Amino acid sequence: MAVIPVALAGRSYDVTIESGALEDFAGYARACLGGFDKSGRAVPFVADRNTHRLYSDTVERSLSKAGFRADWFVVEPGEAAKSWPVLEKLTDWLLDLGVTRSDHVFALGGGVVGDLTGFACAITKRGCGFVQIPTTLLAQVDSSVGGKTAINTRAGKNLIGAFHQPSAVLIDPLVLGTLPDREMRAGYAEVIKYGLLGDAEFFGWLEANGTDVLAREPEALSHAIATSIKAKARIVAEDERETTGVRALLNLGHTFGHALEAETGFSDRLLHGEAVAAGMVLAARYSARRDDLSLSDAERAARAIAHAGLPSEISTLALNASGRELADHMRHDKKMEGDTLPFLLLKNIGEAYLARDVDLADIAAFLDEQLQAH
Ligand code: ADP
Ligand code: ZN
Repeated sequence: MAVIPVALAGRSYDVTIESGALEDFAGYARACLGGFDKSGRAVPFVADRNTHRLYSDTVERSLSKAGFRADWFVVEPGEAAKSWPVLEKLTDWLLDLGVTRSDHVFALGGGVVGDLTGFACAITKRGCGFVQIPTTLLAQVDSSVGGKTAINTRAGKNLIGAFHQPSAVLIDPLVLGTLPDREMRAGYAEVIKYGLLGDAEFFGWLEANGTDVLAREPEALSHAIATSIKAKARIVAEDERETTGVRALLNLGHTFGHALEAETGFSDRLLHGEAVAAGMVLAARYSARRDDLSLSDAERAARAIAHAGLPSEISTLALNASGRELADHMRHDKKMEGDTLPFLLLKNIGEAYLARDVDLADIAAFLDEQLQAH
């Protein structure tokens, strides 16, 4: 078992990683079940239809052995659940259950369930506790840790939300056994990200062991998850609310990736992790074009991504957009300063830095080259 502390001023919490933890859910979650034992109230769980179907029995079996019962709020799978109407239903449900500020609500699912539940808990009674039980690789290595919660609105994704840290994060890597391979690969893109942005040794380890991670080989998988979370915990502890620029490191590949997601309408055509994968290749190659990174290191990054079955060449994405059109998607970025946008680039594999002199016209020219390449 690995326990990784996320050290925040006054509100530290642990991320526990243990294969099979769900079977003994009540044992692992004991500290967050207080209040439900004496009152006889049901323990509130949020899941989507898939995670409910797959894992609610396991959780309930463990809870009932310990004398608890669960009540479920089940949403449809997909981004549409991160919406005002679903948020309203969820908060009404929590209030009907009589949730108090010292209670904990349990989020069993991927990033969608975690973001929605976290935000509902940030605003219910001005903030009640919640526990993340992430069931996708993406949520396990990224979104469940760090306290960003949000819903989507007409104006865009994640524009309404709050920083609200979970009370605990419980990760059972075994649940990834049922995750579709495509979702697994998409989450793996964020794992590669931690290597590229700050840990050359981990990147090298992934080059050698990535296939085992994707095949859910238990030891390799747990190592990849733990190393990713340690990196994220360190960055979040340094810059909880994204004010010093340190947390921006986590955006490696995301500015390019966001443009690709916007161009494909945030649809299943390109999952977030796939867009980030292609975006990291672009960040690496753009870094090489500026002579910040060697060309061979940029291609090393591209190979690791392609080897994982992730998109590394935007020329193969059938985008039907020009470099200029892709760059235009970045213009709405809230970080824009005049014609320049702060960009996460690479000096080395394992060393990312924030460049403040990147001109969007140059990005557009670079993207045109990439759209035609290969
Ligand atoms: P993300 O964590 O990437 O934001 P979502 O929350 O949108 O992802 O989940 C992606 C899809 O994977 C959804 O259809 C969800 O129901 C499904 N899912 C989540 N966890 C599992 C799992 N452990 N096994 C099978 N499917 C899962
Ligand atoms: Zn991401």
